[in-house]
Amino acid sequence: MIESHTMFRPPAEAYSLLLRVANGCPWNRCRFCGMYKGVRYDALPREEWMADLAEQSVVDPAARRVFLADGDVMHLPTESLLDILNAVNNALPQLARVGSYANGASILKHSEVQLRQLRELKLHTLYMGLESGDDGVLRAADKRETGAEMLEAALRAQAAGLRMSVMVLIGLGGRSRYDAHVRHTVDILNRMKPRQLSFLRMIPVPNTPIGKEWDCGERDDFLSEREAVMQMRDLIDGLTECTSVLTANHVSNVVPIEGRLPKDRGRLTGMLDAVLSSDRLTSEGPGAFPLSL
Ligand code: SF4
Repeated sequence: MIESHTMFRPPAEAYSLLLRVANGCPWNRCRFCGMYKGVRYDALPREEWMADLAEQSVVDPAARRVFLADGDVMHLPTESLLDILNAVNNALPQLARVGSYANGASILKHSEVQLRQLRELKLHTLYMGLESGDDGVLRAADKRETGAEMLEAALRAQAAGLRMSVMVLIGLGGRSRYDAHVRHTVDILNRMKPRQLSFLRMIPVPNTPIGKEWDCGERDDFLSEREAVMQMRDLIDGLTECTSVLTANHVSNVVPIEGRLPKDRGRLTGMLDAVLSSDRLTSEGPGAFPLSL
């Protein structure tokens, strides 16, 4: 077991006070993800996160934003989450919003009424990895939930007044499920309408099952650089009903883009078409991967 491990947070939480209340991810099996490998999921003892909160509230008494770590704080019972949020509200009088990563199955552990209680205590944004709307792609990646379950989770959270920020993995499913990945992801997102949508590209992360297969030369189905851009274009083209702020500025992306859906669909697909018709992208393979993620 890893004694201490990296505390991840979404880019949008760069200026938030980071408060760890649990370790790791309760699922920790997704074949592409190395965030918490070797970390056993458990809730931190109350006195531990309370001491951390007390210390941080002295350093930054005017903090307005808090991000609760680690990977899936919504897995905790509602009572524990209410206790944490009450403590954060008491310690930080200017608190405006609290964010957390959340898996679909963990959101579904809470009723809409319970989610509303959390919202009243300023829980604000849940960051959920949809990755794909296609169940074949999700199964092959050993993702816990189906697309329908993640849709239900997001709709329940949104009905309770929470904001959803959802991530999709370009290239998950490789070439063989290119069309299914696009079709079903578009379908789920058009119904889900998350406030924030982020595209990241599938990368063989070291120390993950997919990363190890890549290192051994066992993966020849990765999208080429050109196909990855084309898939991003095809996804955006299909998002006719999705009302989201879209960003694809993660270091894994071949082309960084940002816009509002659906109004910027034409501008974004036009921009990607221009890149696709240039000679800047390789069709030979995925191109250079970023050095670190
Ligand atoms: S992608 Fe999310 S749910 Fe899957 S193992 Fe990583 S942190 Fe856990």
